[in-house]
Amino acid sequence: MEFTTTCAAETQNLARRLGELASPRTLILLYGDLGAGKTSFVQGLAQGLDVAANVNSPTFTIIREYRGRLPLSHFDLYRLDDPDEVWELGLEEYVAAAGVVAIEWPQIAEELLPPERLGIHIQHLGEDRRRLRLEPRGDRHRKLAEELMSDVNLGS
Ligand code: ADP
Ligand code: MG
Repeated sequence: MEFTTTCAAETQNLARRLGELASPRTLILLYGDLGAGKTSFVQGLAQGLDVAANVNSPTFTIIREYRGRLPLSHFDLYRLDDPDEVWELGLEEYVAAAGVVAIEWPQIAEELLPPERLGIHIQHLGEDRRRLRLEPRGDRHRKLAEELMSDVNLGS
C-alpha cells in the first residue's frame, strides 16, 4: 500500500482522513529521515481527530497530549538511546488507553509496542515529493489502512 504526495498539504490531507477513520487504540508508527514529513503527518492526523491545538514537534518534550474526538498522544523518540528510558515513559499505558498514539522514530520502542499497529514509512523522493508506504499489522489496523486506501482512491 503506497501513496505518493507532491506537497505537505497532500500528506496532511491523507493523514487527516486517517484521523477521521481512527478508533480507540489506533497505533501509528512513523518512520523516515529528518524532514521526511512525520510531524507534518501528525498535524494532519490531529485535524482529523478534531484537535483544536497546534501540533508541534515533541522532539524536546518527547511526548505531547492533545484533546480531540479521541485523545491523541504524540511521541518523538529521536533523542532517546536507551530502551529503559522508553520503558519509563509508560508508552504501553498510552497505547492501552482509549486514544490514538502516533510515534515518530519508534525503532527504539519496537520491542515494547504491541504488534497491532500501522507502520507508515515516509521516503523523501524529491523536493516536495514523498512516498508513503503503509505497513499494517493485525486485523484492525489492516482494515483501517484498506479503508484509507479506498477512500483516497475514490478521491474523498
Ligand atoms: P519530520 O518530522 O519527519 O522530521 P517534518 O514534518 O517536521 O518532518 O518536516 C517535513 C518538511 O517537509 C516540512 O517543512 C514540510 O512542509 C515539507 N514537505 C514538503 N513536501 C512534503 C510532502 N509531500 N509531505 C510532507 N512534508 C513535505
Ligand atoms: Mg518530526
